[in-house]
Amino acid sequence: MPTTMRALRKLERAAGAALVEVPVPDPREDEVLVRVHGASICGTDLHIYDWNEWADGRIPHVPMTFGHEMAGTVEAVGEEVHHLQPGAFVAAETHIACGHCSTCQTGRAHICENLRILGVDTEGVFAEYVVLPAQNAWVVGEGIDPDAASIMEPFGNAVHAAFGTGGGEDIATNAVAVIGCGPIGMFAVAIARSLGAWKVIAVEPNDYRREKAAEMGADVSIDPFDRDPVEAVLDLTNGTGAEVVLEMSGNARAIDQGTRMLARGGRMSLLGLPDGAVTLDLNDQVIFKEARLQGITGREMFRTWQQTTTLLSTGRVDVSPVITHRFGIDRYEEAFATTASGASGKVILLPGGEGVSQAAGA
Ligand code: ZN
Repeated sequence: MPTTMRALRKLERAAGAALVEVPVPDPREDEVLVRVHGASICGTDLHIYDWNEWADGRIPHVPMTFGHEMAGTVEAVGEEVHHLQPGAFVAAETHIACGHCSTCQTGRAHICENLRILGVDTEGVFAEYVVLPAQNAWVVGEGIDPDAASIMEPFGNAVHAAFGTGGGEDIATNAVAVIGCGPIGMFAVAIARSLGAWKVIAVEPNDYRREKAAEMGADVSIDPFDRDPVEAVLDLTNGTGAEVVLEMSGNARAIDQGTRMLARGGRMSLLGLPDGAVTLDLNDQVIFKEARLQGITGREMFRTWQQTTTLLSTGRVDVSPVITHRFGIDRYEEAFATTASGASGKVILLPGGEGVSQAAGA
């Protein structure tokens, strides 16, 4: 067991990051030490890397190791941890819940009142090793490729949005519109397809992402700058609209359009984060339609992980087309530029270096 490791850290409250040597952390009594196989880059990480206004207001302190999406092998466990042993392959749930607030006590730990986020409020996963609370380590199990395991967290966002609180029973045989086809939208397209949607309609201005959405199973991919997406969805659904709208863009205009393309009695999951307040015509777009709008954050702990595991381990959803790039962690600058380019799906950093991926998946 080495005593030091490489970690990609924010050393200053400014753009950029540095790959530095730091001590391998020790797990406390209720924690596990995980050797990171793969860590995928999220939009949040890009904000932290670029150090935008959000990051400056949100990140409590530097220096810190960032990154939160990951899978890896348990190397050591704290003395109070009995359900996990070294050698277990796990993925990280990134919402660290307090366990004692009213939402935690009523089984809704993902919206904990005292929520902390891995790699935002705590030391993150862009490193050779990371310490996780044992309760945040999800055992990946058979049938899921290690690289796919490293994107289970954002995939779980898409699963949670698609299933909502109603178990996703409104998807089968109905029309589903997915607005915004970054990686989570790409996943959502495939999940809706897998759950038996009649039509899956993707709305996305970026050509690369629209093509990916088609590859993941969208029947129609609409460029909203080319064609009014509300008219398009109504045309494609005989004037009814989409029974389920999954909003992944956070764009205010797209959110408004989402409520307009939503069928009467339909359901809209809101996952994308708008920059500011959004104005909607609640009378016609929500109240008289009896529309149900649900905010989506994180994943239900751990129902969403069970659903995610089933979808991936049975091959009902193949995420491999979305995992478009892999880089050794020393090539992090290239990895972040690729993520920012808009011509990528999920970009995975391999702290153990390139070539580890194939070896671990073999
Ligand atoms: Zn709590």
